[in-house]
Parts: sequence; C-alpha cells; structure tokens
Amino acid sequence: MSEEIGKILITEHEIQDKIRELAKRITEDYSDRDLLLVGVLKGAFMLMSDLAREIKLPLEFDFMAVSSYGSATRTSGVVRILKDLDYEISGRDVLLVEDIIDSGLTLNYLLKYLRTRKPASLEVCALLRKEGIQKAQIDIKYEGFEIPPVYVIGYGLDHAQRYRNLPYVAVLEEGEE
Ligand code: 5GP
Repeated sequence: MSEEIGKILITEHEIQDKIRELAKRITEDYSDRDLLLVGVLKGAFMLMSDLAREIKLPLEFDFMAVSSYGSATRTSGVVRILKDLDYEISGRDVLLVEDIIDSGLTLNYLLKYLRTRKPASLEVCALLRKEGIQKAQIDIKYEGFEIPPVYVIGYGLDHAQRYRNLPYVAVLEEGEE
C-alpha cells in the first residue's frame, strides 16, 4: 500500500481565517471569566497554539492525551487516557479543544469524564466535524468546518503519526503500490 497527500479540503488561509473568527467569539464570551483551555493531544496541538494566540484573554492551558485509533483509519469507540489533566478543574470555565469529531465517541467520553470533576462550565471547540450521523449527540459551541466522511490528514491530524505538520487539511489517498 502506498499513500500520499490527496485533495486539499481546507487551505491554510481558510483555517487561519476561521480560527480568528472563533477566537473573537471566545474572547467575547469569556471576557469576565477564568478560561482554561484543555487540548486533546496530539491532534489538537496546532489548533491550540493558533487559537490561543488569537484569544485576547489571560487564559491557562492544560492537556490530555487519549488514544482511540491506533494507526488504523476507523473509529474503535475505545478511548484510553494516556495523559490526564495536570490541574484541578472544579469551578473552572473549561473549553475543550479537539481536532476532529467523527463518531463523537471520543468527545462524548471526554465530556462525561470531565463533568465528574465539576467544572463551572464546559464547552467544546473543534476545528472539523465529519458530516453524517454522529453516534453520540454532542453540542459543539465553537465549530470550524463540516467535512465529508473521508479520512483527512494535516493541521495536527496524522496517518501513522505522519503529516501532522501540514498547514492545511487534505484527504489521505491510499493506493496499491
Ligand atoms: P471519534 O471518536 O469522534 O470517532 O474520533 C475522534 C478521533 O479520531 C479524533 O480525535 C482523531 O484523533 C481521530 N480521527 C477521526 N477522524 C479522523 C480523520 O479523518 N483523520 C485523522 N487523522 N484522525 C481522525
């Protein structure tokens, strides 16, 4: 099997424009609150970095790492916490930052998990959401783009740990060698 970067779905320019728009809304919504951004590693690292620079508030960061895929390209629905939060979130205004929502199972699991820690509020910012029926019903307050149900790479998203550094989002093209 060979693989390569296929069609670009969202350009670098479109991503950065959207992030400025989302960050502006977040800045307004959290102006009188104590914002804690929680990024889900590894996929959300680029979004976290670009988004945080555009939010004009004295926010704090934390990160979680979860694994739901291995290196296959299908949702398993099994979520493993590889790294938990460093800080207490009880009473905090938490914004969970995710790269992509496919079935929604990963996010659903994380939200349930975080709610048990009693944050003052808990919202979601996700750059991408795949079209189709999400298996879990989730309210994404800050959503970037809706994309077709294809496997994508770039802007934090990998295939077998590669391609995360692409500044755009593209389709992964797989073919016979
Ligand atoms: P879900 O639990 O919503 O089905 O899947 C969420 C997680 O699966 C994402 O955080 C991401 O790590 C991975 N994922 C889902 N779709 C894609 C995709 O198209 N490309 C990549 N690289 N990862 C994906």
